[in-house]
Amino acid sequence: MTTLRLLAAVLLCAATVAAGPIVLKAARLYDGQADRLVSPGIVVVDGARIVGVGTGANVPADAEAIDLKDATLLPGFMDAHTHLGPEGSGNFAQDRLSMQEQTTGEKALGAAVVARRTLMAGFTTVRDLESNEFIDVGLRNAITRGLTPGPRMLVAVRGIGTAGGHCDPTNGYRWGFLHPSSELPAVGVGPDGMRQAVRWNIKYGADLIKTCALGGVLSLNDDVDSPQLTQDELNALVDQAHTQRRKTAAHSHGAEAAKRAVRAGIDSIEHGSFLDDEALRMMREKGTYYVPTLMAIEGIRERMAAGLKMDARERKARQAMDAIDVTVRKALSMDVRIALGTDAGVYPHGRNAEELHLLVDRGMRPIDALRAATSVDAELFGIADRVGTLAAGKLADVIAVPGDPIANIRAVEKVHFVMKEGVVHRRP
Ligand SMILES: [Zn+2]
Repeated sequence: MTTLRLLAAVLLCAATVAAGPIVLKAARLYDGQADRLVSPGIVVVDGARIVGVGTGANVPADAEAIDLKDATLLPGFMDAHTHLGPEGSGNFAQDRLSMQEQTTGEKALGAAVVARRTLMAGFTTVRDLESNEFIDVGLRNAITRGLTPGPRMLVAVRGIGTAGGHCDPTNGYRWGFLHPSSELPAVGVGPDGMRQAVRWNIKYGADLIKTCALGGVLSLNDDVDSPQLTQDELNALVDQAHTQRRKTAAHSHGAEAAKRAVRAGIDSIEHGSFLDDEALRMMREKGTYYVPTLMAIEGIRERMAAGLKMDARERKARQAMDAIDVTVRKALSMDVRIALGTDAGVYPHGRNAEELHLLVDRGMRPIDALRAATSVDAELFGIADRVGTLAAGKLADVIAVPGDPIANIRAVEKVHFVMKEGVVHRRP
């Protein structure tokens, strides 16, 4: 055991690090890639890595056995779209204002609470697609150092967009309410401005680049379906990011903005409520991933049902809700690559796995939902060489759910075993 792992075990309290190898046993196993589950499930772990999978695996005589019985072993789930910040009240407009009252330290501690909850729900890797005050960078680093339990994080720092756009943090406030520096570098002007914004984000710790190609449901003063960046601006942004070996994600509900982003070579389209046939066809041809974030819509729907008044945002929310069901069904029938992301933060953190049944309800096969949450996300994140499948040599991110998730996809919402890099964080 390395000193770092020992330190992590001490600091993480509930987490336990085995002194030697571990053999995980369960009735079934899904490796993240195959088209079916196998029986029985066996994964041998030594240190931070998987050393064997399946009945043919060599199990060292001194291995500690953890028998999960009638359960299914899976690779740790991944979420392509989260915002790990302090949990809000659900009143989106009020929450934006009360964020202005909290110190950075308070927000960081709130973020640590939701990071732990996300890990315990079986999510061992997430992308954080925009944060304030470098909470995402701080949280990522603290988790990596073993100071606080949470998923492995790939962070975007600030989303990049236009003045008055969805990524503009001062959008919706009167002039002068927030310090002008809070716009930096979220608001870029022209291709050179986009390149500079990408460089700024990477300088301060971004693992990937997020852009708001058009308006949002929860921002004011912008349409949800009209493009905000020019083709030249998107080309420059994606080119700069790829030159610096960073993946790119575009917040884009509408079809025209998505087409511009796809033409520019974006790696994923987030939300995509109003994607038309042409946009979906372009995405299939280019291999662009689609991340529908159905849980975001679900979170807004629940809050509106509970009586939340959203004023100008309400019309946009209803438009997106009506459109996205049709879009996801069409994307499935057209074989667009769908990756799993949820927009955690728009709904209460820790419910990420509900996205799987929302996809299945719209026609995705359960096995494909499991694949979207594991190996497909790993490919989108650019880390498929390390995580996303259960195979010898991969990092030991292993979770278990009771029963058979193919028979009942909602079993994924009852994760009862979580191991991340060989450290057990949760047991039944
Ligand atoms: Zn988001």
